[in-house]
Amino acid sequence: MTMTAHEFHLKSRPSGAAGPENFEFVERTLPAPGEGQLLVRALWMSVDPYMRGRMSDAPSYIAPFQLGQPLEGDAVGVVEESRDGRFKPGDIIKHFFGWRDRAVVDAAGVVKVDPDAAPLPAWLGPLGIPGLTAWAGLVHIAELKAGETVFVSAAAGAVGSMAVQIARIKGARVIASVGSEQKARWVKDELGADAVINYKTSGDLTKALAKAAPEGIDVYFDNVGGDHLEAALANANTYARFVICGMIAQYNHKAPPPGPRNMAAILVKRIRMRGYIILDHLDLIPEFNREMIGWLKDGAIRSRDTIVEGLENAPKAFLGLFSGDNTGKMLVKLAEA
Ligand code: NDP
Repeated sequence: MTMTAHEFHLKSRPSGAAGPENFEFVERTLPAPGEGQLLVRALWMSVDPYMRGRMSDAPSYIAPFQLGQPLEGDAVGVVEESRDGRFKPGDIIKHFFGWRDRAVVDAAGVVKVDPDAAPLPAWLGPLGIPGLTAWAGLVHIAELKAGETVFVSAAAGAVGSMAVQIARIKGARVIASVGSEQKARWVKDELGADAVINYKTSGDLTKALAKAAPEGIDVYFDNVGGDHLEAALANANTYARFVICGMIAQYNHKAPPPGPRNMAAILVKRIRMRGYIILDHLDLIPEFNREMIGWLKDGAIRSRDTIVEGLENAPKAFLGLFSGDNTGKMLVKLAEA
């Protein structure tokens, strides 16, 4: 039986900020699944800042999206037809064929998710790449210790909101930076940050961070780069560790912006600065899942989603990441289970 699918293709490569004109909504007929394949109907899909990088053709750690081809990304869906003995219709799976309502996928490249262990959206947020990224960055890259002071930027986002809470659970004092008063209240009152800076109203970020962390910071969890990185360098303690997770402030720049003016702080303060790509750390998933499922069940970690309804609104959800439209994880809901 053939099936009609709807999907977004990359129509053109953005120069500077991406816009709706870079996306094309396409209807096509899917082939029937072959041996070892599944027909999957999408329920939820993730939009993520790194996708902006894949819209460009500059070399990176992951191949660029191809013009005229479907976009990709993490998604959760339900198996409708299976030609693989390990899966049956009705199974819930996580796969990498986001940006479309139906797809034929190789069973070898998907994982079953347990809908009883956590609600489906959690598998794209706290139990997905964002949660794993926050946990691996703090526990394995920063080697965070109880009693230390951590600064987290983009702290009300998917990764940041997890980093704030994991750092708190691990016994750190947490300073957060966010882009609105509503986000600041959530991060302080519900996620438990000790101090929150609204970088849009705080004025000089270096001074604001000095006020929030008078004894300096031991770990910087960087989601933003730019002025946040400069403020963190200025306020770092000797032997501080900087975890370079993301630099969203520059993803839409046409050319790389100048670096922080105070890079000499790395030398003077003997700072260890390390970038990481979570795809290199997928072996940590079992250890991470054990810890995170426990935290979600006992309420130690809270998650929140900003939900955009309908595949046709997926570009709007993606573009909203760059204007701070999301509190918690930005998700697109495609259908009911
Ligand atoms: P978020 O949910 O944090 O969404 C992006 C947020 O960034 C926005 O809500 C906005 O919040 C903030 N933001 C946008 N533009 C700017 C800007 N110019 N300056 C400051 N803040 C800005 O996204 P994710 O949690 O998915 O990703 C967070 C970071 O982690 C990104 O840099 C991403 O690339 C990176 N990442 C890295 C991974 C890795 O393997 N290294 C894996 C996953 C993510 P606000 O309103 O507060 O400004």
